[in-house]
This record gives sequence, C-alpha cells and structure tokens, in this order.
Amino acid sequence: MKIGIVGCAGRMGRMLVAETLVSDGCTLVGGVEHEQSPFLGVDLASLAGLDECGLVAGSDAGALFSAADVVIDFTLPQAAIGHAEAAVRHGAALVIGTTGLGLVEQAAVEKAAQSVAVIQAANYSVGVNLLLGLTAQVAAILDNDYDIEIVEMHHRHKVDAPSGTALALGQAAADGRGVDLEAVSERVRDGHTGARTPGDIGFATLRGGDVVGEHSVIFAADGERIELAHKASSRTLFARGAVRSARWCEGKAAGLYSMRDVLGL
Ligand code: NAD
Repeated sequence: MKIGIVGCAGRMGRMLVAETLVSDGCTLVGGVEHEQSPFLGVDLASLAGLDECGLVAGSDAGALFSAADVVIDFTLPQAAIGHAEAAVRHGAALVIGTTGLGLVEQAAVEKAAQSVAVIQAANYSVGVNLLLGLTAQVAAILDNDYDIEIVEMHHRHKVDAPSGTALALGQAAADGRGVDLEAVSERVRDGHTGARTPGDIGFATLRGGDVVGEHSVIFAADGERIELAHKASSRTLFARGAVRSARWCEGKAAGLYSMRDVLGL
C-alpha cells in the first residue's frame, strides 16, 4: 500500500510516518503540512526521530493524494472538506482520525465515502473499540436507575471537548439504551443546575499535562457503581491502528467504515 500522511509534522503525524516506515507491505509516498508550516522541506523520517528517508514535508495535498493509494489524516476539522474532496478527485482511500468535525465537514466525509473507501474512527486503539462495545452492552442491561456519566482527560494541547472518543462512548451508551443521544446529552454543568434528570448521559472534561487519553464510563446507582475505563499511555497505539486501517482499505469498495469493521468486531 502506498501511504501518504497529511499533517505529517503534528504529534500524530510524526508517529504515523514512523509506523508507516516500519510496517510490512506499506510504502510511505509523502507527507504534507499547511502552507505556513515551519516544517516544510524537512525530512519526514527525521521529524519522526528516525534516520532520514529522503522524503520531505510538502504542501501540495493534490500531488500527495494522486501518488497514494490511501491517505491518513490527523489534522484539524477545517481541513477535512479539502481532504475529502481530494480523495475523490484522485481516487485515494482516506483514513480519518481528526476529531471535532462539524456537521458540514462530516457531510463532506460522508459524500466522499460514496466514491472511495473512507475509514473514520474517533479512536484507533483496539481497547477503546472494545470499550465501545462493552458500553453499549452494559447500557442495554441497566435501566435509568443507573446514571451514566462519561469522564475524559487529555493533554493540555487538545483543542476540542468533549473528546471524539467520549462522544462515541456516549453514542454507544445511547444506542444500548435505545435513546437519542442529542435528547439526553448533558454536556455542561455550571452554577445552580438543579438535580440530575433521570436518563441523562453526562459528560465531564479534564485537560492537563501530557495525558495521552483516559476515558471512563460510569454507571452509578443507589448503593453501587460500575466503571468501565481505558487509559492510553502512548500515542503509538493510535498510529498502529490507523496504519492497520490503511492496509485494510486495499481493494475495499466505496463506503464509510469504522475501526470496528477493521477489527472485525
Ligand atoms: P497536532 O496539532 O499536533 O497536529 C496537527 C497537524 O496538522 C499540525 O502539524 C498542523 O500543522 C497540521 N495541519 C493543520 N491543517 C492542515 C492542513 N490543511 N493540511 C495539512 N496539515 C495541516 O494535533 P494531534 O495531536 O496530532 O491531533 C490531530 C487530530 O487527531 C486531532 O483532531 C486529535 O483529536 C486527533 N486524534 C485522533 C486520534 C484517534 O485515534 N482518532 C488519536 C489522537 C489524536
């Protein structure tokens, strides 16, 4: 698989470069950054802390999508529309890790999936995808006597909240309960909020330090509490899952796939 990385100088981009370079059956064909990036012209492997590979960070996304079989995108929501359109124009599959997409950006991704294979996951770790399945199962068993709260913590640089994974966990809990997440979601509590509404799914966000990503789903009733938790200690696992997804794309028909499809869960 010929793999290209957009956002190649980002925290995830550098790991994706490193993971692509060491993965069997994968060839790194390039990486791009935004036009003002100070990393343009810098060797991709050296950005990832490895010996130079002879490919440098560029800014021509079209050329990258044209050279690659699949492009991995961990950038910013506002870049998603351009990347989705480029994937269609050049017939490349797309693996999207960027979180915090708005309705317009999400619609562009879904439109691209009518023409090419697109994998989108709020979290590319195997453990979190298991957690999603377990959350739906537990939520289906426990009734509204069990208040569902989702707590997440990430590093101080994260720009969207709650995390995409927390929202996906909320969706899994809502699916398990057979309710509409929008109708029961309690995203912000501040001041005199009144008592908790039965059936709500609450979210709490913590930010600080270098925390890679921690998520807990709490089912709290009178007299007992069940907690499902996942703690990521290295970003490498996201990069490994994304590159695994990129390889899985080979020969896949157009469509919007999830990491659960990749894992066969
Ligand atoms: P980062 O800020 O370190 O990196 C983003 C990179 O994208 C930067 O280098 C930036 O210059 C570049 N960029 C921005 N706009 C661009 C454009 N138009 N073209 C090319 N490059 C562009 O952020 P990060 O920590 O690497 O996270 C990136 C995204 O990935 C975030 O949305 C984050 O939430 C998400 N993320 C997802 C997962 C997952 O498993 N799905 C895991 C970790 C992070």
